[in-house]
Amino acid sequence: MATLRPGSILDPQLECRTPDERRAHLGAGLVVTVAHAWKHAPRFRRQLEAAGLKPGDVHGLRDLSRIPITRKDALPAFQAEEPPFGGLLGGDVASMARLFQSPGPIHDAQGSEGDYWRFRHALAAAGFKKGDVVLVSASYHLTPLGFILDGAARSLGCPVIPGGVGQTELQLKAASGLGATAYLGTPSFLFQLLQKAREGNVPLKLEVAHVLAEMLPESLRSDIESFGVRCLQGYGTADLGCLAYECVEKGGWHLHPETIVEVLDLETGKPAAPGQPGEIVATIFDEAYPLVRFATGDIGTLAPEQRCACGRTAPKLAGLLGRVGDAVKVKGMFVRGGQMEAVLKKFPEAGRFRALVTREQHQDALTYEVEVDNPGQQGLPEAMADALREELKVRGEVKLVARGTLPEGGRKIDDRRVWK
Ligand SMILES: [Zn+2]
Repeated sequence: MATLRPGSILDPQLECRTPDERRAHLGAGLVVTVAHAWKHAPRFRRQLEAAGLKPGDVHGLRDLSRIPITRKDALPAFQAEEPPFGGLLGGDVASMARLFQSPGPIHDAQGSEGDYWRFRHALAAAGFKKGDVVLVSASYHLTPLGFILDGAARSLGCPVIPGGVGQTELQLKAASGLGATAYLGTPSFLFQLLQKAREGNVPLKLEVAHVLAEMLPESLRSDIESFGVRCLQGYGTADLGCLAYECVEKGGWHLHPETIVEVLDLETGKPAAPGQPGEIVATIFDEAYPLVRFATGDIGTLAPEQRCACGRTAPKLAGLLGRVGDAVKVKGMFVRGGQMEAVLKKFPEAGRFRALVTREQHQDALTYEVEVDNPGQQGLPEAMADALREELKVRGEVKLVARGTLPEGGRKIDDRRVWK
């Protein structure tokens, strides 16, 4: 493989199509995917039938809006009803490479080895090149992010240090000792690593980072880049893989050339005009797990039609604005009020509660306030914090408060983070 320059285009055939070519390509992918899912995924077949459709009725992108939407929020119920994948898998479980359980709980599948989740385009756009030693600071346990990034890096010819999550000192030592030149993971953890390296005078050769799974405010990006590390971001989900990514021109995220991404008005369900917020709904051309019109619950806007100096022709997402419903992303993981409630119900002492999400030094902080009769109880906050962490996979501190402190009917998650 040729050496990639920063921001090089991995596959000009895919990434530089004209709008007509793109529509034709994505339409053809849709037709094939719908036919495959109809044959192999019984729930999809029932959904299509309920809408009065057969695969032969789907001829291209013009028929997309007739296909029913599957909501990510519905997956836990579908999967419980029809285990383990809710009737949406496109092949046998036995033919999958890996199986995951993300918080929700939501089961996810990896259909094949290699760059299964299509992130290699995102890494190339950020300037990752063959031979970069890549520190992957994301979980390889039960949830897929570690493998998502690992597979993408290795498909570009980059050896990977599987750093996992936490253990900042150890990861720093590994990155320094093994000569990491590139980073994949959350921006807040990257910033921690860079600060620790400076404090401890640990030599680091990091030059480039692709970050995801949490917001990247411009203040954090410039703090990271002040260490000499180019920092670009991407967007995807555990179920759908890569949906969009920044190029070195920044100013929005190019939609992935092999994925249909819609931004749908929250009230009408019709395509939202550029600049108007809507829910991101995506279709991937994947035989193993053929998700068609899968509603992510993420709210975003499309950038006004514009040419990008990088040469990619795919439209751009201007950014993400939050979540539909009550899920909030904290330290890279979705947390939901309903999950917290289920955990706290196991403590007979617990009354009303709320979770406060704040931001200190570019790091998320999570604090639960829980009403009890006797806020002075020893050991109870720690026991609650442990149980919550076990379920939500995010560490938070529990503060006991007297009954009547929290507003009745108030929000379960109070997100007080300010992004700038
Ligand atoms: Zn571009």
